[in-house]
Amino acid sequence: MAAYTGDTDRAGEAPDAAASDGGARRDEAVRAAVEQGLVGPTTPIIGLLDITGIRTSAAALHAAFDAVAAPGTPVLHAFAVKATPLVPVLRLLHEQGIGAEVASAGELALARAAGVPPSRTVLDSPAKTPAELREALALGIAVNADNPQELARIDGLVQSAATRSPLGLRVNPQVGGGSIEALSTATATSKFGVALRDEGAREWVVRAYLDRPWLTRLHAHSGSQGMSLELMARGVAETYGLAEEINARAGRRQIDTLDIGGGLPVNFASDAQTPTYAQYARLLAETVPGLFDGRYGLVTEFGRSLLAKHGVVLARVEYTKTAGGRAIAVTHAGVQVAARTVYAPASWPLRVGAYDAKGRPKAGTEVVQDVAGPACFAGDLLAQGRAMPLLEQGDYAAALDTGAYYFAHHYAYNSLPRPGIYGFGPGAEGGVRFAVVRAPQSLEEIVAESGGAHAEALTGTL
Ligand SMILES: *Cc1c(COP(=O)(O)O)cnc(C)c1O
Repeated sequence: MAAYTGDTDRAGEAPDAAASDGGARRDEAVRAAVEQGLVGPTTPIIGLLDITGIRTSAAALHAAFDAVAAPGTPVLHAFAVKATPLVPVLRLLHEQGIGAEVASAGELALARAAGVPPSRTVLDSPAKTPAELREALALGIAVNADNPQELARIDGLVQSAATRSPLGLRVNPQVGGGSIEALSTATATSKFGVALRDEGAREWVVRAYLDRPWLTRLHAHSGSQGMSLELMARGVAETYGLAEEINARAGRRQIDTLDIGGGLPVNFASDAQTPTYAQYARLLAETVPGLFDGRYGLVTEFGRSLLAKHGVVLARVEYTKTAGGRAIAVTHAGVQVAARTVYAPASWPLRVGAYDAKGRPKAGTEVVQDVAGPACFAGDLLAQGRAMPLLEQGDYAAALDTGAYYFAHHYAYNSLPRPGIYGFGPGAEGGVRFAVVRAPQSLEEIVAESGGAHAEALTGTL
């Protein structure tokens, strides 16, 4: 297999290179957010999204697959909504030609609110209710069944009403896990899809297709973050091989579309965007050449790789102290915006940028310190024993690469409010312009969402 790094053919990669200016754009935005008072003593935490970066990544995804797919191949890139479930983000991506992969009624509602049409929406989830399935089929949204029981439900729905929904089945190619167990969906015992290598499973899948002429898609998603490109490509190769077998047995091109999932890993160690979509697409073209020869339409479901590098949490340092000789900066960013990092720090280390009280990057001697959050438990640390310029009271700590699965995934510990999220882009006369993506949660909202309307519920007539 040819190496996918150090390749001299850079076709389709220019957009990725442009995105590596993300660090400079971020520094400018942090400075502007402080200057414009978006963040400060009374609003000590915000989330920021780099609109230029998101556009650039979307363009890189299109370019990568356009470069390897036969002309005219239908390709739907559907953003995995769970990565950044924010309506304006889905709308921006829709405008960039990216659809939506949804896995709940809530995510479907977000995609619809963003204006993503059913024809560009895919529903996957391991636990769809009959009502969700009925709605999806009524709307004409593509659905991937997860298991035999779900397929039986769809059988009933297909018989009772005509649908335009392209229908498929998710398989687990069981190619093995990556470095993060919780995110590995192609292990022998993963809860997702039909486990292809289990006794009798492959034959069952083939028969399921032969018995259902309307089953025209095949889906696999082998994992997220921590998967090597080779392992991801092997999962796709297994899926492709199965589709070829089914079509041969059917004597026709029954499966017309392969949904290869998402899962491109993100580099959390620097501003470099590696691996790139172009590298993955080229590796797929080398490993599974038939995938791109025009016989199959393609669906992808990337999430983290489209958004992670383009988000930052900016939090004010409220206090600093030392304990046991360790310098500690107590900030307003902790478990409520970075649950994974706080609870599983070894799997999810985040870079933390240091900015001064005016929002300028801090230089100077690195000091080993803890960057703590505001929640009332000892483990609420954004970074532990990290060597970085010493944070001082009134400075800002920036949790980098948090555009996916972080601040949009609020964890309501200590009733900490959801911070406001702002998109940023170049202003008309230089400078930085901000747009509200999500307003900060108010105290009234916290009370209302915590049973505020039912204060007497437990002390009344019960
Ligand atoms: C989570 C998920 C994705 C997106 O994974 P990323 O690692 O964010 O790219 C795609 N498809 C399915 C079915 C998923 O569960």
